[in-house]
Amino acid sequence: MAIATVDPATGVVERTFTPMSAADVEEALARAARAAAALRRTSFAERAAWMRAAADLLEADVATLAATMTREMGKTLASAEAEIRKSARGCRFYAEHAEAMLAPEPVDAAAVGAVSAWSVYQPLGVVLAVMPWNFPVWQVLRFAAPALMAGNAGLLKHASNVPQTALYLGALFARAGFPAGAFGTLLIGSADVERVLRDDRVAAATLTGSEAAGRSVARIAGDALKKTVLELGGSDPFLVLPSADVARAAATAVVARCQNNGQSCIAAKRFIVHTDVYDEFVAAFTRGMAALRVGDPADPGTDVGPIATEAGRAELEELVADAVANGAEVLTGGYRPAGPGWFYPPTVLAGVDPSMRLYREETFGPVATVYRVADLDEALDLANATAFGLGAAVWTTDDADRARCVAELECGAVTVNGMTVSYPQLPFGGIKTSGYGRELAAAGIREFCNLKAVWIGQ
Ligand code: NAP
Repeated sequence: MAIATVDPATGVVERTFTPMSAADVEEALARAARAAAALRRTSFAERAAWMRAAADLLEADVATLAATMTREMGKTLASAEAEIRKSARGCRFYAEHAEAMLAPEPVDAAAVGAVSAWSVYQPLGVVLAVMPWNFPVWQVLRFAAPALMAGNAGLLKHASNVPQTALYLGALFARAGFPAGAFGTLLIGSADVERVLRDDRVAAATLTGSEAAGRSVARIAGDALKKTVLELGGSDPFLVLPSADVARAAATAVVARCQNNGQSCIAAKRFIVHTDVYDEFVAAFTRGMAALRVGDPADPGTDVGPIATEAGRAELEELVADAVANGAEVLTGGYRPAGPGWFYPPTVLAGVDPSMRLYREETFGPVATVYRVADLDEALDLANATAFGLGAAVWTTDDADRARCVAELECGAVTVNGMTVSYPQLPFGGIKTSGYGRELAAAGIREFCNLKAVWIGQ
């Protein structure tokens, strides 16, 4: 994939970039290794001051950075601005809490025959971050803020379609005061990831992206015996049970499916509805989906912008065509609009069954499937009948139903009477083919630390 900014609203190539040479990559690795050695000797207070300065810079740059994000991957300007502000809050969260999250943990010294004993979290060194384009700032910051606060250095290999956002982020932390090289961008293609990952100066890697990319990085990291965190795809269920506030559930379902032009790993993708409320929910949901305004993401009146890449739209079209050819019913959408840009309308499909790709595969765009179920057992079986396990949402006011859903849904996050969202305070990640490891909260900052045991004798 060429490293280039191609406006998804027009299909026009705006800027292309030459990938870094082997010598450039070598220099970036050497700089990151020097920065990691320096960073591990800095205090939490120093790093927190730099991290807060990074948050201030993000907020000061919000207008220009949001415009770049919108041009590179098509999200609406309003959502780009919200993402930048959220990223700034994430930086401040770790600036404030990192020291407590990584505080040494005392151990009962007598029980281990020591005068004193404790465990302590220490940085691992340079961490490689392979990141996706869909939340091009938040995905990076939710790795970088905890990693840097722990005293690691970071090297970013961002998605090839967001190079200008990548370069902005590569410069951000040095501007904020961190040592040069503490965080840098590698403008390289995915084929060059292996060489960097195998380099002895790289201690670990995190990847957010597709299952295929995750498997590749995990295989190489496994061979090189390096720690990885993987945040991969999802096909999150959204359960609507008989006691639900159906109107609120349907309105939330529209946002949960279509936010970020439908390109979110934790977007609700499969709507599993109890037969008692199915007709009411599906009618309201379909109306809401059809009412969304699709268009120029820079226009404040737009709800849904284009799909980020031409290949991404083609993939969606194939999934819908396969389902329709095998008997699925289109309730709204399901066609390619005329004109330039990679637009695709909010689409709802019913009658999807296991013979169709849509039943199993992730839809990365505003395409929803609705399923009618007879009872909670069937709802849970269908919700869990997926290789993914990222998030799940449930709408119910029944305590017993809620308890069963929280206990039995196979995923990394359950949301009741709301839509799945990431927060710095809550751990984020998946099970099954959605990946492993956690980002955010205390679990996220500890992923790239060495938990060192200390035993002191007489
Ligand atoms: P992708 O193709 O896997 O790209 C993600 C990143 O991985 C890009 O930087 C890409 O570089 C790189 N990459 C691709 N193939 C690689 C390989 N074989 N080795 C090393 N690096 C490789 O993902 P996408 O389709 O653009 O993004 C959407 C996917 O990400 C969806 O499945 C979505 O659910 C998932 N996602 C997950 C989360 C989460 O937190 N769980 C969050 C957001 C998105 P190039 O751009 O140069 O190819």
